[in-house]
Amino acid sequence: MATVGSTVPSTIKSKQLRACLLCSIILLPAEFRKTGCPNCEELMQMKGSPDRIATCTTTYFDGVISVIDPETSWVARWQRTSKYVRGVYAVRVKGRIPEDVESELDSRGIKYRPRDQTEQD
Ligand SMILES: [Zn+2]
Repeated sequence: MATVGSTVPSTIKSKQLRACLLCSIILLPAEFRKTGCPNCEELMQMKGSPDRIATCTTTYFDGVISVIDPETSWVARWQRTSKYVRGVYAVRVKGRIPEDVESELDSRGIKYRPRDQTEQD
């Protein structure tokens, strides 16, 4: 269950932004290129790679929240920090992570849950 935090600044234009397919954090493409995903760069490896950014993020997302409860996040299960960084996240993200990332998750015993489907559990 996500926790809805403070309102997202109206200056954020969704068309310029991309959401990570794995953790659904929303950043500018330039930010993904410069630092990669702050949550799952270890798996996604987007830093300095426009091709990976195009594959691992999407402009198709809706619903933005500024806070996520890290304790109930499935991402926390495989993150060493067990916490999302503070930021803006999409509620729903359309798309699927690349197969290599999915198999990496699989090798860690984590079942990937696409963010574009309604929660079933
Ligand atoms: Zn991510």
